[in-house]
Amino acid sequence: MAAMLRLYNTLTREKAPFAPIDPSNVRVYACGPTVYDAAHIGNARPIIVFDLLFRLLRHLYGEAHVTYARNVTDVDDKINLRAAERGITIRELTDGTLKSFHEDVRALGVLLPEDVNVPGERPRFVEPRATDHIVEMVALIEGLIAAGHAYVAEGHVLFDVPSMPDYGALSKRPLDEMEAGARVEVAPYKRSALDFVLWKPSKPGEPSWPSPAGIAEPGRPGWHIECSAMSWKHLGQTFDIHAGGIDLIFPHHENEVAQSRCCFGTDVMANVWLHNGFLQVEGEKMSKSLGNFVTIREVLKDWPGEVVRLAMLKTHYRQPIDWTLRGLEESGRMLERWYEIVGDEAAAPEAGAALVEPLLDDLNTPAALAELHRLDAPADLKAGANLMGLLLPTRSSRAAARVAASGVDVARVEALIEQRRVARAAKDWPASDHVRDALAALGVTVKDNKDGTTTWTVAK
Ligand code: AMP
Ligand code: ZN
Repeated sequence: MAAMLRLYNTLTREKAPFAPIDPSNVRVYACGPTVYDAAHIGNARPIIVFDLLFRLLRHLYGEAHVTYARNVTDVDDKINLRAAERGITIRELTDGTLKSFHEDVRALGVLLPEDVNVPGERPRFVEPRATDHIVEMVALIEGLIAAGHAYVAEGHVLFDVPSMPDYGALSKRPLDEMEAGARVEVAPYKRSALDFVLWKPSKPGEPSWPSPAGIAEPGRPGWHIECSAMSWKHLGQTFDIHAGGIDLIFPHHENEVAQSRCCFGTDVMANVWLHNGFLQVEGEKMSKSLGNFVTIREVLKDWPGEVVRLAMLKTHYRQPIDWTLRGLEESGRMLERWYEIVGDEAAAPEAGAALVEPLLDDLNTPAALAELHRLDAPADLKAGANLMGLLLPTRSSRAAARVAASGVDVARVEALIEQRRVARAAKDWPASDHVRDALAALGVTVKDNKDGTTTWTVAK
C-alpha cells in the first residue's frame, strides 16, 4: 500500500487523499505543448511540475503501475499559418518543433517516453499527437450528436452547452460571466452563445480530414476535442488525474469535461484536476502574446538545465513564480553545495521518508527542498534529489552548477575565449595575454587540452 498522497483538486477546491481507480494502473493526462514555435520558460513549468508528479507516482505505486499521457497539439490556427508561411506541411513544421522541445525538456531533467517504456510491456509514457487521433475525435463527435449533445450547423459541429445541466462545474464560473465571455466570438450558427466548436470547415489550403457524418465537406477539429479523444484512447473514459496550466481551466478543461462526460454518459472525466500557477515576469504572466518571454533554449545557453529545474521547484506548483536572475543564482549555489556533499557517493536505494513526506502533501517542493538542505549524508541527499529529478547527471553538471552559482556571464566568457583563440592562432601574444587577464578578472581559469579543445572553470 502506497503512503498517502494528498492532492489539491480544482474540481472540489479541496486537498484530499488520492485514491487511484486502479492502483495497478494509475492514469495521468497532462495537456502538452502546441508545437508551432519554440517553447518559453513559462511553458516549461507544467512540464517540470508534472514530471515530478510522474516520478512521485512511480515511486509510490511502482514503475509498471503508472501511465502518463502528455499530448502534443500539432494542428491549430497558429500551426497552419506558420506552415503556410514557410511553404511546408504542418507535419514538417511540428516534427521539427517537437524535436527541439524534446531536447529542451530533456536538459531540464524531464523524463521522456524512451526513458521509461519497456518493449513488449504496456506503455508507461505516451506522447499522443492530435493529428494521429482524428478518427477518435470524429467518433466522439458523432457520439455527441447521436446523444443530443451536439448539432451540425453550416459545416460546423457545435457542442450544445444548455444540454448539459452541470456545465461549468470545474471552473465554477457564473453562467452570465461565461455568456459574456462567449459573446466575444458570437456566430450566427450557434444556438447558444456558450456553444463551442467541435469541428469546423477548413479554409482553402488548410489541412483537412473527412468530417463527421452529416457534413460532406472535409474539415478540421476544434481545439478541445483532441484531449477528450487522446485521453480516452490512452487512458479510458474515466481516469485518475488531469493536469495543466491554470489558464486551461476555462474554457479548455471545462469543455473537455463536457465532451467526454456527455459522450460516455459518465459522472466524471478525471477524478482529480491539478493546475499549475503562472511563471511571471515582473508580476505579469510570461506569454508569447505579451512579448515578455524567453525561450527554454535561450535560458539553457546561460544556465544548466538542472539549475533551471531547481529554480522552478523552489516554488510550490500552485503559486505564481517570479522569474529572476537572483532565483537562478541561488539555485546554482544550492546545487553547488549539494554536489560538494555528494561527491562520488552512490545514491541510497530509496529516497527517505523525510523527503517523500512533504511531496505527499500536494507536492510541497519548497518543504522537500528545505529537507534536502538539512540532509548531510551523501547517499540520502543523492537519493532524495534523484527523486526530484536532481543530481542525476555526472561531473560536467557539477562544473556547470559552479559556473551558475558564480553569476559569471557565460556568453561574455565564451566570447573572450574565442578572442583568445583567434589571437593565439595569429601568434598575437600581447592580445592573447590581454584576454587572459580579462578572464582572470572574472575569476575564470582556462585550460588548453591535449585534444585541442579549451575548457574553463570559475574559481570558487
Ligand atoms: P500554450 O503555449 O499557451 O499552449 O501553453 C502550453 C502550456 O503551458 C499550458 O499548460 C499552459 O497553461 C502553460 N503555460 C503557458 N504560459 C505559462 C506561464 N507563464 N506559466 C506557467 N504555465 C504556462
Ligand atoms: Zn488539453
